[in-house]
Amino acid sequence: MRKYNGRSQVLVTGGAGFLGSHLCDRLLGEGHDVICADNLFTGSKRNIEHLLAHPRFELMRHDVTFPLYVEVDEIYNLACPASPVHYQHDPVQTVKTSVHGAINMLGLAKRTGARIFQASTSEVYGDPDVHPQTESYWGRVNPIGVRSCYDEGKRCAETLFFDYHRQYGLDIRVARIFNTYGPRMHPNDGRVVSNFIVQALRGEPITIYGEGEQTRSFCYVDDLIDGFVRYMRLEGPVPGPINLGNPNEFTIASLAQLVIELTNSRSSLVKRPLPSDDPMQRQPDIARARETLQWEPRVQLREGLARTIDYFDQLLREGS
Ligand code: NAD
Ligand code: UDP
Ligand code: UDP
Repeated sequence: MRKYNGRSQVLVTGGAGFLGSHLCDRLLGEGHDVICADNLFTGSKRNIEHLLAHPRFELMRHDVTFPLYVEVDEIYNLACPASPVHYQHDPVQTVKTSVHGAINMLGLAKRTGARIFQASTSEVYGDPDVHPQTESYWGRVNPIGVRSCYDEGKRCAETLFFDYHRQYGLDIRVARIFNTYGPRMHPNDGRVVSNFIVQALRGEPITIYGEGEQTRSFCYVDDLIDGFVRYMRLEGPVPGPINLGNPNEFTIASLAQLVIELTNSRSSLVKRPLPSDDPMQRQPDIARARETLQWEPRVQLREGLARTIDYFDQLLREGS
């Protein structure tokens, strides 16, 4: 691997977003040079404000649907809006970001010989009829629904990663990320953890979609980023996609109760219609990650939520 000044040059696309900004922190902390390429669609300078003056950090305002020519050793491709509200705002751009963005980043990896990581998603499993979801499950995805721009875009990106691997020998890592939460989530992105915490802190009603019986398994951001880095460092033949997430599964109604308890909120619960194609159940099978990466989540929901609540409490006090 080429190293300038003895350090790896790492590109993080979507580096100003929730997960990307934590990844930039981690990589800089390990002594790498980090280029963050982000069009700031859902990310913000605020997330990386503390890094802007760092001598080994560079922010490029760039849209990954356009080619990018930089010299790097490693690429983490995270650029893509992740919350349903954001990715459904401009669905065509969401598909372009996933597909054209993947082609450009794979082209970059092909030219430079960089190892490349793809932030894929549990959404590739759709509304699953296999539970918990293992990597060998092919999924149950609606190709023409409102979530399809994201789900199918990410599935096509996976296809591209594996075809560039087979056809050109690219050194790829594909992580299927399950619901992750933590500080620097966007307060208005509509995701369940940020919505519930912000509503609880403001004393507004907590919006439960449907009956709240659908489930998700929530991973704290620090655990997830540790999984990314372990995966990227793995040498030798790399097994196919790897699920990364916390296997502890909760109903949405029980999440609401926990948030109310931890915030000492007086918020009531209100029911709202269930969005279409909303998956009923989601839980990762992480046997492959345990075995190959010696990785498993350490931070449990109560503790992770407490840290996330502190973050949002501070944010709301600052009035941003
Ligand atoms: P986020 O919205 O906070 O971050 C996405 C970042 O990508 C933002 O900074 C945004 O400005 C940037 N971006 C969007 N389109 C771009 C484009 N065309 N060019 C350049 N930058 C662009 O979301 P996140 O939660 O940090 O998600 C990061 C990645 O992880 C995404 O690819 C997402 O699909 C994936 N993922 C996240 C989760 C989760 O629970 N957080 C779960 C599964 C997968
Ligand atoms: N690309 C890029 N940076 C590079 C090399 C390639 O952004 O350093 C883009 C370029 O736009 C190209 C895409 O990656 O269209 C795919 O590259 P590849 O080499 O696979 O295909 P080709 O150049 O033959 O279209
Ligand atoms: N959800 C909810 N209330 C909200 C936001 C989301 O009940 O205010 C539900 C949503 O319908 C889904 C689950 O919480 O069943 C997780 O939603 P999110 O958008 O966070 O992620 P995803 O559906 O992509 O897993």
